[in-house]
Amino acid sequence: MKIGFIGLGIMGKPMVKNLLKAGHEVVAFDLNKSNLDEAVSAGAQRGTSCSDVASKVPLVITMLPNSPHVKAVVLGKDGVLEGAKEGTILIDMSSIAPLASQEIEKACAEKKVRMLDAPVSGGEPKAIDGTLAIMVGGEQNLFEEVKDLLLVMGATAVYCGSIGAGNTTKLANQIVVALNIAAVAEAFTLVKKAGVDPHLVFEAIKGGLAGSTVMNAKAPMMIDSNFKPGFKIDLHIKDLANAMDTGHGVGSPLPLTAAVREMMETLHADGFGNDDHSALARYYEKVSGTKIGE
Ligand code: NAD
Repeated sequence: MKIGFIGLGIMGKPMVKNLLKAGHEVVAFDLNKSNLDEAVSAGAQRGTSCSDVASKVPLVITMLPNSPHVKAVVLGKDGVLEGAKEGTILIDMSSIAPLASQEIEKACAEKKVRMLDAPVSGGEPKAIDGTLAIMVGGEQNLFEEVKDLLLVMGATAVYCGSIGAGNTTKLANQIVVALNIAAVAEAFTLVKKAGVDPHLVFEAIKGGLAGSTVMNAKAPMMIDSNFKPGFKIDLHIKDLANAMDTGHGVGSPLPLTAAVREMMETLHADGFGNDDHSALARYYEKVSGTKIGE
């Protein structure tokens, strides 16, 4: 199939490579020339704008930072809707606000473009392996139509409900991950300050109820003071801000999310926004005057 792909960053690039490997043709576009050059040297065709991409393919995938970027790419000047023909499919795989997905889908429907929101979890390693977890919102029959294509990029693709439900599910994922990282950072700072070796604590508790995928991935990073991203603090702030807007909109308070968001804002203000989100440990290290890894 001929697929348009817009947004060739940390996630988009490997996803394009997997589509090419599976035998699809890809017409790619990004504002960042070196990202676009890399996709072209991997075998993609060079698009000249979002509308150019959309005019050449029956299905467009977007993988962009946040709601304003997706709105600009789809609804803006030279955007996807300027180039798309009736019946074009748009799959937005960015993590954005569910309300924005609903707004964009409404504008798409007016032009008879069919849209799904399909954000992912798993980060760059799973984007490279093609084993992302994909959560999907929109018309169920459209999901069934494109499920095999999604499974070129992911190990799972789960239908979550109407448009926006994919992004609501992703917000739940981001809340659980952020709070779990904060809990690990808080606990490991305590044991260090109390004079118990964090390595031994990790060995002792990782197989019990406190153990988690998050602890397995992030505790060793905290113990090594290795905060190379991974998933950046600044992107996680974006997701928690979207979660809080959504929570306030539906009347579901998020007190723990609010607290962890402020810790992340503190790290951003201290110049650590591009660190991995495991750098929440830095917040606790600062307030307790200790280092988990020393
Ligand atoms: P990124 O910043 O690396 O890439 C975004 C790309 O979009 C960039 O290449 C940028 O130039 C391009 N772009 C921005 N505005 C554009 C426009 N108007 N027209 C064309 N291109 C434009 O981001 P990423 O890490 O690849 O993340 C993409 C999305 O996936 C985000 O919503 C993020 O939250 C989500 N996500 C990321 C990870 C991760 O580990 N990085 C994991 C899961 C989900």
